Amino acid sequence: MYKYAVVGKGMIGSAAARYLSQWSDEVVLIGPDEPEGDWSKHDGVFAAHYDQGRITRCLDGSLAWALWATRSIAAYPEIEEKSGITFHHRSGGIQVGYDSTDPNSALNKAERNALHLGTSYVKMTSDAYCKENPEFWFDPGLMVLHETGESGYINPRSLVAAQVKICEQQGADIVRETVVELDSSGNGVTLTTDGGQTIQAKQVLVAAGAWTEFLTGADLGLQPNPRTIVMAKINAAEAERLKHMPTIIWYEGSNNPDIEGIYVLPPIVYPDGNTYIKLGGSLLEMTYPQSAAELNKWFHTDGSEVEARALEYELRRIIPELDAESIHVNTCVVNKLKEGNVPIIKPIVDGKVMVATAGLGAAAKSSNEIGRLAALQLHKMS
Ligand SMILES: Cc1cc2nc3c(=O)[nH]c(=O)nc-3n(C[C@H](O)[C@H](O)[C@H](O)COP(=O)(O)OP(=O)(O)OC[C@H]3O[C@@H](n4cnc5c(N)ncnc54)[C@H](O)[C@@H]3O)c2cc1C
Repeated sequence: MYKYAVVGKGMIGSAAARYLSQWSDEVVLIGPDEPEGDWSKHDGVFAAHYDQGRITRCLDGSLAWALWATRSIAAYPEIEEKSGITFHHRSGGIQVGYDSTDPNSALNKAERNALHLGTSYVKMTSDAYCKENPEFWFDPGLMVLHETGESGYINPRSLVAAQVKICEQQGADIVRETVVELDSSGNGVTLTTDGGQTIQAKQVLVAAGAWTEFLTGADLGLQPNPRTIVMAKINAAEAERLKHMPTIIWYEGSNNPDIEGIYVLPPIVYPDGNTYIKLGGSLLEMTYPQSAAELNKWFHTDGSEVEARALEYELRRIIPELDAESIHVNTCVVNKLKEGNVPIIKPIVDGKVMVATAGLGAAAKSSNEIGRLAALQLHKMS
């Protein structure tokens, strides 16, 4: 019997398993690899991190999120060094919002937290920003915070690969299968996988992302949000023209009738060898999957047409001269609480089973710290 099992080889689970395997020789990390080929032919679970770019930044309107990001970013060099896998790219990042005297506006809160945590940034009007950076456009009269230093983006697939590699170096077992049953009625916890394995552990951390509630059956108040992303394929000349592009989060002032919270990643080379600019946001009116089967099915679709259209429209506004060879649409999922914008790390079966999930669209960059906090709590439970 293992001392600790972590279910979910994703961003939070792999981080938690790295810490647990630092403290114990009896750790197993269980979760499937990314499905290969056509997603519509895959019947099992997916993940929120099957991509090449996730924004990383310390500037945040929530002090908790700003702190988790700051601590996680501080751990990136150690993870890169121990694993030999590079995942952090310092492109800088801008956040755009209202120029408001309201102390609770998105940018004013972010600035306040930046002062607390010593985050380096430059503040300017959108007019001044666009004059200095004519490749980009934002409505006049808005405010821009430009974070420098360590901000930019991470490759989430590479970060997970790095965490898993260190887990292996530290002696953890990796089981690349999906857990189909979790039974905590006996001595310890018994996990059954889709490959027919039975794995026993004294304690289990479930970090199965948007599938956590469906797997555990616990009422956690979660609501997986299906997300559509748009990727503009660009050629080498366009990538060169936009090579100094920062990451972009346009919080307020875009006034799109269908989406909010728009974010854009700079040009990134994908595994197919092409360079893409990716953007996403949040659809104002969405339908939520109610079961694992419904959620898996979402990944078999081409996403939401309304969201894709609105995203492409915004991308062409932000980069008016964009020379895109083609536009591609993909699906993803953000796991969040119905009420509240923080992750949950809590026991669901006393002394035996904990969950760590609800990373929203924000936990990739902070997954190391969220995983560390979950690992600490599980360790203390023993
Ligand atoms: C389109 C999009 C853009 C985003 N952009 C950003 C960004 O710019 N910056 C940022 O910080 N965050 C961003 N995020 C959020 C970030 O990706 C998530 O918060 C993060 O991936 C959550 O980590 P997780 O470990 O909870 O879930 P995941 O990364 O989804 O990992 C969960 C894992 O559990 C596994 N699993 C599920 N069910 C089972 C089972 N039954 N048995 C075993 N394993 C199972 C899955 O295979 C998966 O690997 C974005 C998310 C999306 C969807």
